Order: sequence, then C-alpha cells, then structure tokens
Amino acid sequence: MKNYESPVVLQFEDLAEGVYAASGSVEKEDECWTVTVKKEQVIAHECIAKFRVIANHPGTVHISTKSTVTVVFSKNVESAYFDAGTTTVNGSTVIIERESHANAYGVADNYNSNLEIHLSSSEDAQEVDVVSSMITCTKAPNVQGGF
Ligand SMILES: [Zn+2]
Repeated sequence: MKNYESPVVLQFEDLAEGVYAASGSVEKEDECWTVTVKKEQVIAHECIAKFRVIANHPGTVHISTKSTVTVVFSKNVESAYFDAGTTTVNGSTVIIERESHANAYGVADNYNSNLEIHLSSSEDAQEVDVVSSMITCTKAPNVQGGF
C-alpha cells in the first residue's frame, strides 16, 4: 500500500479513534469496508438464488474509489447479476465490483443491494449457500491538501 502524508491536522479525539497523525499515516483495518452476504430468496424452478449484499465504509482519512467483493458459493455459478455494480463469475466464485459514490474526505459510503445467481438446471438452488465473502477497498489519496 502506498503511504502518503495526511494533509489533515488531527485532534486528540481522532487519535482515540485509531487514526494517527504521525508521518506515514496509519489506518486501521477496521476503518475500512465491511460486508455481509445473506441468502434471501430461492426461485427453485428457475435455478435462481437471491442474496443481499450489505457493505459499509466509515468516513476515514483515505478515500474509497471502489470496493470489490469476492463471494465463494457452495455450488458452481453459471451467471450472476448485481443491482449496484458489475459481476465476474469463475466457477463457484463471484466477484462484484462497485464504484464508490463517496469521493471526499470523511464521507462514508454504503450499499444494500441484491445479488442474483443462476445455477445449472441440474442443481438445486435451495442448497446453495455462501462459503465465504470478503471485501477489499481501492483507495485514493486524500485530495483536500492539494494532492
Ligand atoms: Zn477503505
């Protein structure tokens, strides 16, 4: 990860929240995206399962320009559609990419959107579940200080 000097003068209240004003600002991992993927609905005769993807990013020193969610399912996925971004399918893995709407210092971002996956007609969509989900952040330097 590229380090950059924060142009923001932090107060002691900020330090208590885990943001450090020392050169080469450090952001804690818990200051970034979190994600939950929950099964919501199955349309068995169409081999479709619908999941809700809930992601949150607090307002931090760094700016998030994009989030990438990697979801591994218990069955192979044939195609996937996400309400708030693009999808790439590779076997049982679906990668969601979403551009961030927040692009300024301290602005939080979140989404709560549907992911629909289509399985092979030989599969039972009732049985598919999330094996794992993770989210990563594409960060941009804070531009407030003229960066
Ligand atoms: Zn982030």
